Amino acid sequence: MKKLGFTTTTLHCDRTKPIEHGATHKPVHNSAAFGFAKASDLVKVFQGVQPGFVYGRQGTPTSAALEEKITRMEQGFQTIGFSSGMGAISATLLALLRAGDHLVSSRFLFGNTTSLFETFARMGVEVTFVDATDAANVEAAIRPETRMVFVETIANPRTQVSDLEGIGRICQARGLVYVVDNTITSPFLFLPKNVGASLSINSLTKYIGGHGNALGGAVTDTGLFDWSSFPNINELYRKGDAKTWGIVQIRKKGLRDAGATLSAESAHHLAIGAETLALRMPRTCSNAQGLAEFLAAHPKVKKVYYPGLKDHPQHERAKSLFCGNSGILSFELQDGIDCVEVLDKLELVISSTNLGDNRTLAIPVAPTIYFELGPERRASLGIAESLVRISTGIEDLDDLIADFSAALA
Ligand code: PLP
Repeated sequence: MKKLGFTTTTLHCDRTKPIEHGATHKPVHNSAAFGFAKASDLVKVFQGVQPGFVYGRQGTPTSAALEEKITRMEQGFQTIGFSSGMGAISATLLALLRAGDHLVSSRFLFGNTTSLFETFARMGVEVTFVDATDAANVEAAIRPETRMVFVETIANPRTQVSDLEGIGRICQARGLVYVVDNTITSPFLFLPKNVGASLSINSLTKYIGGHGNALGGAVTDTGLFDWSSFPNINELYRKGDAKTWGIVQIRKKGLRDAGATLSAESAHHLAIGAETLALRMPRTCSNAQGLAEFLAAHPKVKKVYYPGLKDHPQHERAKSLFCGNSGILSFELQDGIDCVEVLDKLELVISSTNLGDNRTLAIPVAPTIYFELGPERRASLGIAESLVRISTGIEDLDDLIADFSAALA
């Protein structure tokens, strides 16, 4: 059979396995635990000898169906769902790194990810933050103890685009686990596998869910990394096909033991949202492009950051890597204009911290998501005090422009 397209696969992949009573969606399995007629079957599932579910913290049929969808979207090997994007990131590090290991990370990251890495640093994992828009900076930071490199595709909120291909080549040559946070691009715009990523992480709360009605996260093993050469795999999981070792360790040590489990209810909402990702994303991107161009021409706006603008430092790279520039843009106002006052005047656009919703959202960055960092670290990361992040939704562009036009007037 011909290889099915992105949306066809997403819509129909639940039905590749029989669904109870012919339901067209995978039902919500809310049960906390699963019972067996024979204890011997319970033992076999526990030991991984037989497939099945034993306890909801380690997954349910509903979360498994969503995991399968994400795997297909990412064209990966296997996926694990989590209760949030941060749950996915923390479980990945917790499962794969040990005290004494070294992590090289982009310095242009979602603020909570930076904060999490600082926590790992306090627990003995050394972290070096580098400007990942140039792979040479990543290479220069690598040491004998380096085990992992972590980057975002398009950084939240300043939209720097990592040198994804260059870093991929370095990680492959050095045998490092290459983790790409694909949240801002989503697997519709970009496949981390194509640049040699070992693991792709998505906050499902954002574009994949798309409706701002459920939290979730996922880590997908692309199938490219040779886990047999990774020293941190526990003896217990060095069994069978080495391709499974990494993802099994993340499921056991990251999901089972840390417990940031995706609820069946949320998995269902996110799976329904995922069905329309390919329909929503082009509109999200064209709204962001239109709004970025409008803001760039506005006299009260000092600077706009959006990879779709020709003056963006990684404009050409974004064009060659992604099928669109996504819906995150940020802008600085001219000196003396208070961004909070401007946002207060918006009538349609919602002041909110989320992104990837069908509704357009805006947030003043310095006093909210970058507040804890303080003014000096914000400045070192290029976060101006007047920086506003916008996440475009799927409204009509004219209405968005009219709202910003009135607020800036
Ligand atoms: N990664 C990126 C790039 C994000 O922007 C976010 C949240 O904004 C996350 C991860 C965390 O996702 P969640 O809010 O689902 O924990």
